[in-house]
Amino acid sequence: MASFSPHNELNVYESAEARFEVAAKKLGLEDGVYRFMRYPNKEITVYIPVELDSGQLEVFIGYRVHHSLVRGPCKGGIRYAPDVTLDEMRALASEMTWKCAVVNIPFGGAKGGVVCDPSKLSRYELERITRRYTAELSEWFGPERDVPAPDLGTNQQIMAWVMDTYSMHVRRTTTGVVTGKPVEMGGSLGRQQATGRGLLLVCDKALVKFGLKRDQTRVIIQGFGNVGSVAATLMHQAGYRIVGLADIYGGLYNESGFDIPKVTDWVYRQRKPLPEFSGGGARMTAQEVLFQPADIVIPAAVENQITRDNVQRLQTRILCEGANGPSTAYADEGLDRKGIFVIPDILANAGGVTVSYFEWVQDRGGFFWRESEVNERLKEILERSFDDVVSYAETNGVNNRIAAYMLAIDRVAFVLKLRGIYA
Ligand code: NAD
Repeated sequence: MASFSPHNELNVYESAEARFEVAAKKLGLEDGVYRFMRYPNKEITVYIPVELDSGQLEVFIGYRVHHSLVRGPCKGGIRYAPDVTLDEMRALASEMTWKCAVVNIPFGGAKGGVVCDPSKLSRYELERITRRYTAELSEWFGPERDVPAPDLGTNQQIMAWVMDTYSMHVRRTTTGVVTGKPVEMGGSLGRQQATGRGLLLVCDKALVKFGLKRDQTRVIIQGFGNVGSVAATLMHQAGYRIVGLADIYGGLYNESGFDIPKVTDWVYRQRKPLPEFSGGGARMTAQEVLFQPADIVIPAAVENQITRDNVQRLQTRILCEGANGPSTAYADEGLDRKGIFVIPDILANAGGVTVSYFEWVQDRGGFFWRESEVNERLKEILERSFDDVVSYAETNGVNNRIAAYMLAIDRVAFVLKLRGIYA
């Protein structure tokens, strides 16, 4: 693998750039095309004045980055978190471009966010922030321009407010302006489970490659939210043995496997911290659980969990990245050295954006599919994309991550050349 040197290992933008750099070099991308794709198409910063419930006026900072519109309207989540930065938005927007290209859906990449702590805001404050953020960006949003979706700290309700505000501005109900909406107002069946289901689908493909059986396969999942808990449930139902789990409060490891419906009941119905689960297991930190013996490790919580310093502690054959950016670019060399089969984030967690694409198609057609149709089409796309990436890696002698980037960059570059540069 070509070498790279991000200055700060934990800066997600530098990690994204480093990987782009390696893949672009391997592809022998021409200089101009390289420069075009390296930078975002547009970065917008908005200052959002909002009256809080107390009557005080506060100004929140919001961002929206369009990385690429080459293959179609740009697509990407809106994140509400106190540590949102423009660098993070840039990184995540470019990764959305590559993710959409890996699964070959007709979108470019975008990402947005507001610097705020949603846990400290009332429902009405969140609504006012969302509506003003959307109003500021309404000329850049649209089903043919930029289609947001939920991300950390945002949800279906926030998407409903984005859709309503945008619709008021353009004077017509436009459901296709966002995805991840409630099903009752144009959302897609299967969207909520799509990312977790995608993880099951790509793990199934990896098992075939390794000649493993589901019931002999030990799985560790870090994160028990939308992605992690759905993956745990579906994989448990499919016969996998889930031996490690973690959430923000800590981790648990149990070699004989967890009863996932009981864990789900504990966390979601009884609202108790996962590490206090009464059904057994050794307690440890949420990060420590990643380094226990397993066949598949699925980080599905936050970024930068696997680094240059800890990568050698992994005891797994397969690393399936449910979260965005759970491994740093520096960790990649260690993963290669250990011969770990990596299913990179831009492939592994692409189930969510794939069903978002289905939602956008259904909204525009005004005709909605059965859940079984959604799941079938998702399976077809993810299985084909897995095969594309793995065979690209084998043919070109690169690891799966660089193969996924190369495949994606090549697809974007091809369309860019066909379209040409408007001057
Ligand atoms: P979520 O907020 O629903 O769940 C996050 C989970 O991670 C929770 O269980 C939380 O307790 C846990 N967590 C938080 N901080 C942690 C820490 N430091 N250590 C261990 N656990 C921690 O979020 P989600 O939607 O499940 O998203 C998880 C990841 O997957 C994010 O990186 C997100 O960008 C990525 N992702 C999500 C989707 C999607 O459709 N939701 C799609 C693609 C990628």
